[in-house]
Amino acid sequence: MTENTNGPQRTCIACRQSKPQADLVRYVVAPNGDVLVDYRHRLPGRGAYTCLDLVCLKNAAERRQFQRSFRGRCTEISWLALKGGLTNALQQRITSLVGMARKAGHCISGSNAVINSLRQGDGLALVLVAEDISAGIVEKINELTSRHQVPCVSMFNKEKLGQLLGKEERSVVAIGTGSLADALLLELRRYLQMVREN
Ligand SMILES: [Zn+2]
Repeated sequence: MTENTNGPQRTCIACRQSKPQADLVRYVVAPNGDVLVDYRHRLPGRGAYTCLDLVCLKNAAERRQFQRSFRGRCTEISWLALKGGLTNALQQRITSLVGMARKAGHCISGSNAVINSLRQGDGLALVLVAEDISAGIVEKINELTSRHQVPCVSMFNKEKLGQLLGKEERSVVAIGTGSLADALLLELRRYLQMVREN
């Protein structure tokens, strides 16, 4: 299933499969009893784990596996609340990775700059396009990204994309190849999996 065999293994409370801890989502209980998504595996206390998979989230919530795992110390949680918590955590992680890529000088932004860079076939790892840009630009970007086999993801609005880069509105952002881009691609794939279906 996975190539990541380093580090400790943990068991998903829904499907009972044992997987590398790094591939699973960690949850902890807040003092008020709420189940919290601990996406970066940094919060103290006893943890419970699920696969990053909507079916496992649903089963974990509906079969009351959190109550079992936390020995009744947590309040009930709906799977939609879990999905919302995880989607938020992924958005935050993506936001911070884009910020790191910007600081490292790995970002190109603005539709013209990105289009030119794509035309030159420069080492771009991925392109983010705002959800509120004109269809004409989307079409042009899609055509170039598919020709050069660069993943293209529609996410955030222009204002938010601009904020990530410390600028005014931005319609398109491209990230250069490297380990930050690899990390971003992984999180974007996870994010799309979360928002894809109900
Ligand atoms: Zn599972």
